[in-house]
Amino acid sequence: MRNFLFLLLTILPLMACNKAAQKTQSEVKTINIPSFSADSAYAFVKKQVDFGPRVPNTPAHVACAQYLSAELKRFGAEVIEQKADLTAFDGTILKAVNVIGSFNLAADTRILLFAHWDSRPWADHDPIPENRKKPVVGANDGGSGVGVLLEMARHFGQNQLNVGVDIIFFDAEDYGAPESFRGKDTENSWCLGSQYWAKNPHIPGYTARYGILLDMVGAPQATFYREQASDYYAGSVVTKVWSQAQSLGFGNYFINQKGGAITDDHIYVNQILGIPSIDIIQYDPNTNSGFGKYWHTINDTMENIDKETLNAVGITLMHVVYNEAP
Ligand SMILES: [Zn+2]
Repeated sequence: MRNFLFLLLTILPLMACNKAAQKTQSEVKTINIPSFSADSAYAFVKKQVDFGPRVPNTPAHVACAQYLSAELKRFGAEVIEQKADLTAFDGTILKAVNVIGSFNLAADTRILLFAHWDSRPWADHDPIPENRKKPVVGANDGGSGVGVLLEMARHFGQNQLNVGVDIIFFDAEDYGAPESFRGKDTENSWCLGSQYWAKNPHIPGYTARYGILLDMVGAPQATFYREQASDYYAGSVVTKVWSQAQSLGFGNYFINQKGGAITDDHIYVNQILGIPSIDIIQYDPNTNSGFGKYWHTINDTMENIDKETLNAVGITLMHVVYNEAP
């Protein structure tokens, strides 16, 4: 809330002593936060799920990439579909597409928002062995972050931003080697789309003030702790987002305590491009994995998506982005 308070404090004295200053106030749109619709975000998640599992090299995957690209264009973004053939841990060539939508391209100061849009080919953490070869529907693991960002994009096209915003839907995040796979460098078998983009950004020399990754942001009563790599690379951004959430009354979702450490798309954006980036990811202290119980099971479905959680994340990020000074 620091920017918000700062603006209020500078505007109020102007209003008191000079009527003409009211014009200045009406021109300061930063504190006019468009109202994030959780219903709309939920519908964006459902739409992705309705395509079926978005596993690379399947028709559902191709159709969903086209949908994401078309939606960003409809909201007024400049869209680039970054296509690449990426080699998975088992040698499979993945026809991958990173979908990139940019708003306010003229702005030098840019904020990067990202989520992965693919879903995992195998529910290898399902408690029932017969299910472990089935694909993950990915309502939360994939769908939720994209759904929140699409709803934000809808507003970015209609309500002037102070800064530029780039939204990237990364592909091939969740094609990583299962624990049962015996091979080397399995750590880097995840996040193939973000690794590719970080080495080949859509604009040469691309940078941003900071980046925010959304991953599994839709489960009922989800808790988001300060992920350790986020704190290491971008602690001030974590603090900015978590205190914004707390001031909006979402402190029961955004827990201001140390969570786990995870290899996710933000690692490569930090390490390869040097953009300080954080991960908003559900951390459940009561499970062995730290993930929600639905994670990498066939139960990652719309029944485990809660509008209240989408709302907490979406409203918080709308405040963060719209309060950002140029
Ligand atoms: Zn996953």
